[in-house]
Amino acid sequence: MNLARQIEKYLPRPLLELVKETSGQAGKLRQRVYLVGGVVRDMLLGYPNFDLDLVVEGDAVQLAQQVTETGQAKLLVHHRFGTAKLRYENFTMDLATARKETYASPGALPAVTPGTLKDDLIRRDFSINAMAISLAADDYGELVDPYQGKTDLEHRLIRVLHPGSFSDDATRILRGVRYEQRFGFEFEARTARLLKRNIPMLDTISGDRIRHELELILKEEQPELAIKRLGDLGILARISLSLKGDGQIAEKFDKARRLEKPTQLPSLYFCLLIYSFNETDIEQFLVRLNIPAKLSRAMRDTLRLKTRLPLLDKPSLKPSEVYYLLREYESVAIQANTLAAESPTGRRSLQLFLTKLRHVRTVLDGEELKKLGVSPGPEMGRVLQILHKAKLDGEVRTKADEKKLALSLSLKLER
Ligand code: ATP
Ligand code: MG
Repeated sequence: MNLARQIEKYLPRPLLELVKETSGQAGKLRQRVYLVGGVVRDMLLGYPNFDLDLVVEGDAVQLAQQVTETGQAKLLVHHRFGTAKLRYENFTMDLATARKETYASPGALPAVTPGTLKDDLIRRDFSINAMAISLAADDYGELVDPYQGKTDLEHRLIRVLHPGSFSDDATRILRGVRYEQRFGFEFEARTARLLKRNIPMLDTISGDRIRHELELILKEEQPELAIKRLGDLGILARISLSLKGDGQIAEKFDKARRLEKPTQLPSLYFCLLIYSFNETDIEQFLVRLNIPAKLSRAMRDTLRLKTRLPLLDKPSLKPSEVYYLLREYESVAIQANTLAAESPTGRRSLQLFLTKLRHVRTVLDGEELKKLGVSPGPEMGRVLQILHKAKLDGEVRTKADEKKLALSLSLKLER
């Protein structure tokens, strides 16, 4: 099957130019180069994907350097172990030397040596991700599909390439569920059996790698689908006994998406996932996944704030009281509680804080207060704090109001 015409239609102009330039330079260096992985899968499915991965039978770094010397692409990074990243206009492209992998023990990182395209494809997770398209001049556009990935795509199946795949690398369990749910595919029967049998192998995977795969899931358009499936298969419980994927998670995730800026979303999802945890669960989870400091803080804050929600459950609270209760918490933790809290009054206070109170500033600053006769130091600090509180509670609104209050305060303080 030749996909040369599809490539022309599928890729945006700059990427197409970059691919052609790379193809030409590879010919001169007598190296064979291929498009591989996700982009091939997505091109066949008709989904856009402009994260290009190229595999080179030869030396990917040498090829990348050659491309930057002759064309306008920039070399962003390159590594001793044969990978490079190029940038051209707004696009990037990854090149890797074809590699052969051997697993010394389950879950460990594999030993890597240079190999052929076929070696490079067999080390991959699933048949649908193990296809390539040749970019060499003599067979430009030819689909290379030694493991029947295209047939599996047509039958909407996720299939591992060999029986040891999940035990070699149990992150593939998480990856498989991610693709299954993203595309609405099914696990091929034998793959499904192997997957279930190998769930305990997740224990061989480091926290960083599990977390990375969970983050990829949480970046999906509807992560709750994969989360539910992971729960049903008993995979979440293998990561943490208290982790649940059922019922309200879907509803909360859906609300989160509608309210949040996308960059903060994975963190917010993480905070929602652990909302029913107790103190022991959360500490174990943070250690198991080696969660970085900022996210750990947000997750701990989420639970700490949850225990303090009853304090917010009074309609008579002044805005400044809400402010002082909430200012010490990470905003993601407040957001998680806004989505998960039971009490409408509490939820309203949390929302008020996020949308208004946390942005409230006095108009007068230190310089202007000095001109009004307030002396720098503790007195100034005190005046600013009272002004801020008055502003939060709507007792002052304009600059003139603030001046008036500041003057009366400094007179009082002088006495
Ligand atoms: P996505 O659309 O999710 O980015 P992708 O196929 O590009 O899909 P990546 O996570 O970017 O996925 O990985 C690129 C390629 O590397 C995959 O297509 C797959 O062939 C291979 N790969 C990634 N992780 C593994 C793994 N744990 N085991 C085997 N192959 C893997
Ligand atoms: Mg990718």
